[in-house]
Amino acid sequence: MTLRTKALMILGVALLCMAGLTYVTSRFTFMTGVEEIEERDTSKHVEQVLGALSYLISDVEADTADWASWDDTYAFIEDGSDEYIQSNLVDETFITSRLNLMLFVHSSGRIVFGKAFDLENEEETPIPRDLLAHLSEGSLLLSPPGAQSFISGIISLNRGPVLIASQPILTSRNEGPARGTLIFARYLNSETINELVQVTLFPIIVHSIGEEVHPDFKEALASLLRDKPIFVKPLDNEHIGGYALINDIYGKPSLVLRVEIPRDAYQLGQVATIYYILTILGAGVLVGTTTMFVIQKQVLSRFARLIRGINSITTSGDTLTRISIGGADELSLVAGTINGMLATLQEAGKDIRESEERYRDLFENATDLIQSVAIDGRFLYMNNAWQETLGYNEEDIANLSLWDIIHPDYISHYREIFQKVISGEQVDNIEVALMTKGGENILVEGNISCRFEEGEAVSTRGIFRNITERKQAQEKLQVLYEQERDLRQRLEEEIRKRTEFTRALVHELKTPITPVLAATELLLEEVKDERVLKLVHSIDRSASNLNRRIDELVDLIRGETGMLSLNLMSVDVASLLRDIGIDMKPVAVRSGHSLTVDLPSSNPVVSADGDRLRQIVQNLLNNALKFTPSGGEVILRAREDGDNLIVEVQDTGPGISKADQERLFNPYYRRVEDRERFSGLGLGLALSKTLVELHQGRIWVKSRKGKGSTFGFSLPLETASRKEGRVNPEEKS
Ligand code: ADP
Repeated sequence: MTLRTKALMILGVALLCMAGLTYVTSRFTFMTGVEEIEERDTSKHVEQVLGALSYLISDVEADTADWASWDDTYAFIEDGSDEYIQSNLVDETFITSRLNLMLFVHSSGRIVFGKAFDLENEEETPIPRDLLAHLSEGSLLLSPPGAQSFISGIISLNRGPVLIASQPILTSRNEGPARGTLIFARYLNSETINELVQVTLFPIIVHSIGEEVHPDFKEALASLLRDKPIFVKPLDNEHIGGYALINDIYGKPSLVLRVEIPRDAYQLGQVATIYYILTILGAGVLVGTTTMFVIQKQVLSRFARLIRGINSITTSGDTLTRISIGGADELSLVAGTINGMLATLQEAGKDIRESEERYRDLFENATDLIQSVAIDGRFLYMNNAWQETLGYNEEDIANLSLWDIIHPDYISHYREIFQKVISGEQVDNIEVALMTKGGENILVEGNISCRFEEGEAVSTRGIFRNITERKQAQEKLQVLYEQERDLRQRLEEEIRKRTEFTRALVHELKTPITPVLAATELLLEEVKDERVLKLVHSIDRSASNLNRRIDELVDLIRGETGMLSLNLMSVDVASLLRDIGIDMKPVAVRSGHSLTVDLPSSNPVVSADGDRLRQIVQNLLNNALKFTPSGGEVILRAREDGDNLIVEVQDTGPGISKADQERLFNPYYRRVEDRERFSGLGLGLALSKTLVELHQGRIWVKSRKGKGSTFGFSLPLETASRKEGRVNPEEKS
């Protein structure tokens, strides 16, 4: 219901209430007063009628008295002369006196003369027989002999009520004794009543008691018999009845008289009430219309504009629009408040949009497959990664259910999980295969959860990661791992065999060379012949060379198989290098080189295997002397560099190309140009590298073609070797 309708209804009800209240007020105050006045007036009118009736009776009584106190009548009652009758008791007398009956009763009870007359038809009628019953001896109407009393009033006869008067017949000077009684009567018929009406001007009805009458007479009689002199009762809206009880000459209730009086005051009161109500209604309508006009203009139309504005914003969703209804009252305050809310909403909307944008961006660009599925398996939404990975477009998705894209092998398992999830259980790390549009199987791993609304499961959310590649990689890795395990087993077998072989080789090579070296040493002491001695020296060099090569080979194999171990001790490096320099000096001289040993003033100590350290340095010096053309210069240098000792062998030899430098430390590698010209196996540098690294050091070469070479290696100084985290000298420099 609209406010306008409500306001109209309230106004209508208020007007009706006002009218009702006015009516009730007027009815119980004003109209009650009017009715009281009306009752009073009616009673007065009834009294007037009664007065008029009394006047008629007294009229009859006066006539009776005139005739009764007259000498002629006094004589007539005795002689009954015709002359009196002829001159007095003619029809004209009845008509003039308006009498219906004359009775001359002698004091003996004999009726001297009696005549009844119909005034309407102007003819004589019989004397009513029931009247004679009132004339028996001792009757009230008959004066006792000698009495001078008279009586007048009403009696009821069969023909109707009668106004009656009786007087004792006396002389004209009112002297007795009374010779009889004179009775005059007049019917209280319509003619008589008309006379009353002409006097009182109100309709009058008279009913004898016992007559069949209208109910209002019965009610009036009942009330009048309870000693209420006058009874008043409205007959209708236009007339009111005033009732009175009339007793007969015996004092008995005889007649009920009703005077019908127009209700002028009452009707005036009613009209006044109606005008009063109409005036109030008119004033109410005027006030209501004005109020409605003002409400319509000032409130409802502006309110409607406000609602239209709100509806338009609700429909368009445009929070930038503002509502304007003008004015500076509560409504404009409401509009202002709504505009404020819209501004806040706009700001909140902006924040929400930004937040939504961020989450949408996250959702759409997530690499994981994100899906939302209704409880019946219908897809609700899914992100780009989901669609791109599985290849279904929007149209496909609209016609698909979750169960269509799950690989048949996983369906029963997934159904179980789905049931658990929608019954509120959290299930993580689900692995399931999904079928792409192209028929491929994608293995995904993830978890699903359920969204509830008011305790009812509404939809499920699933976030999955495509683990197909990872699975494939794992499988490949497994294969590789198994291959690697086979290889390692084969390698271990190989190492085991080579270890066996090395042991056998050492045994096989060392066993024959050892007696040769021992015999050669003995021969060198025993043989004196120069020519033979030369041969023995030759044998000794070759045997020693062969022994050294065997040692190199054996050491290399031991190094490769992890069987090479060091006998570590504190080594005074300067002293060791000085000894090596002294030992190598003859060799340098023999090959026409100069050998310089450049040592630090400090006495650096390293934890090393002295023999292996000597072996490394000698190897580098031998190479420098061997590959440097005669007349070259070789320098053995040592220095401390931080926590390390650096040992270098520098020569003025042919230098080594970059390509060769990278491979020099590989076993059996030799520069191409040296392979023909120099003997060797290419094991020295490889073995040196192995030994340096066993000492936790590094080995390197710096060389340029034609500019000589510098081979160097580093060893941790003893103080530094005890510290953790040694610094690589190369890295440091
Ligand atoms: P071998 O000396 O038995 O050949 P090495 O392992 O000691 O074996 O040396 C490998 C190769 O490195 C040598 O054959 C040689 O070609 C090259 N080489 C080593 N030292 C030098 C050097 N000081 N100057 C030039 N070339 C060198």
